[in-house]
Amino acid sequence: MSTRPSALASADSCAASSSAACEPLPVLGSDVLVPLVTGGEVTYAALDYAASAPALRRVWDDIAAYAPYYGSVHRGAGYLSQLSTDLFENSRKDVAAFLGCRADDQVVFTRSTTDSLNLLAAVAPRGTQVFVFETEHHASLLPWRQRADIAVHYLSAPRSPRQAVETLETALAGRAAEGPALVCVTGASNVTGELWPVRELAAAAHAHGARIVLDAAQLAPHHPVDIAAADVDWVAFSGHKLYAPFGAGVLAGRADWLREAQPYLAGGGASRKVARRDDGGIDVEWHTTAARHEAGSPNVIGVYAIASACKALTEAGFEGLVARERQLIAKVRAGLAEVPEVRVLSLFGDDAPRVGVLSFVVEGWNSSHFAAALSAEYGIGVRDGLFCAHPLVRTLLDSEPDEPGECGAPEAAPGERALNAIRVSFGAGTPDEHVERFVRAVRELVRDGARWSYRTEDGRCVPDRG
Ligand code: PMP
Repeated sequence: MSTRPSALASADSCAASSSAACEPLPVLGSDVLVPLVTGGEVTYAALDYAASAPALRRVWDDIAAYAPYYGSVHRGAGYLSQLSTDLFENSRKDVAAFLGCRADDQVVFTRSTTDSLNLLAAVAPRGTQVFVFETEHHASLLPWRQRADIAVHYLSAPRSPRQAVETLETALAGRAAEGPALVCVTGASNVTGELWPVRELAAAAHAHGARIVLDAAQLAPHHPVDIAAADVDWVAFSGHKLYAPFGAGVLAGRADWLREAQPYLAGGGASRKVARRDDGGIDVEWHTTAARHEAGSPNVIGVYAIASACKALTEAGFEGLVARERQLIAKVRAGLAEVPEVRVLSLFGDDAPRVGVLSFVVEGWNSSHFAAALSAEYGIGVRDGLFCAHPLVRTLLDSEPDEPGECGAPEAAPGERALNAIRVSFGAGTPDEHVERFVRAVRELVRDGARWSYRTEDGRCVPDRG
């Protein structure tokens, strides 16, 4: 059995690709100047794509072109209402095409990946058993616990893609009860950026009569996701990580669980017919389409933005995007490897294929302090903390929950364990200069120390301005 991550595109060098995507795609904010605590200004280096990526210029232009024509969706008789309704429903088709959906799949628009996975948890049949690795993002770990009738089986952290498949197979084979089962797995880790063997996990799930949902929040912005080819039952992702930060997300996949469950939200739009009964009660007939779970006025701007991003990425070509991102990853990894005090966190090892998301700790540094200095002294935006994947980061740091120390005093003196990590993440809009500045900043901070003093304020490390 191959454990090569299935979603991986094949291009190895940007130059080898015919795509124009060897250049960064234009994004908003690329010329924003931010002040440095040490004086002067510098263009902001957004290296926190894994949290939220900047909007693609193309997405913004599409939204701006549509904005004057904005109207109610599914409600009005007017021209702009009809136009907006068409735009909304065509966006559904564009997203289905982007994900390679099967003919009878549904595409439900939500607010985010978190919302999508909570929706799936709400519609799972009674008594479903859920299997999820403890290494998942909290959005994948937690929604199932909202249902008293769902048993959640947490699987221990695998140390290779092969071990992930074996762990899942063992857990599914040992499943005591009959009945529906669901596996929830990430496509790319929001902590290590490592790709998970989605196709193999899907095969294991199906071989044991389980279904599988792919958390593609971190995968979709970096790699093509093909729901049919990967043979996953559902895919969830967020617009704001896919260069479309206007408050919409997607759950796409098998229609049956969605059609048979009670609506996620009850209200207009989800109901096809609401009629008075002779006894004074009310009868409701719910839609059986995606609208069943989209009650209320839909976020047409957010949805159109996602469709626009899907088209922009497809037209730019994932082959070139992947190749270019690999070059950026190689640059960051090579730069960090030259600083012995830096430890990059990894579950699957150095050779594991990954997207542009890397977490690390710096010996002798409090991670919050380090991230604050990157921002204040270099204009670089990264994230520090546990990245809403506490069990995974704890495993990688080999540390137990504790309050991090004051940022002025390093929590991780040489030989001690860090309590938090630093994450750098990038993607289609990242110019080389941003990762080069980041590598230089890490080297200088470790060699020379911070040039400013910092203090803890409301739990955050901030420059001490006296
Ligand atoms: N899954 C993964 C892997 C993520 O990285 C995130 C966001 N960090 C989520 C789910 C949740 O996404 P959202 O906050 O957009 O709901």
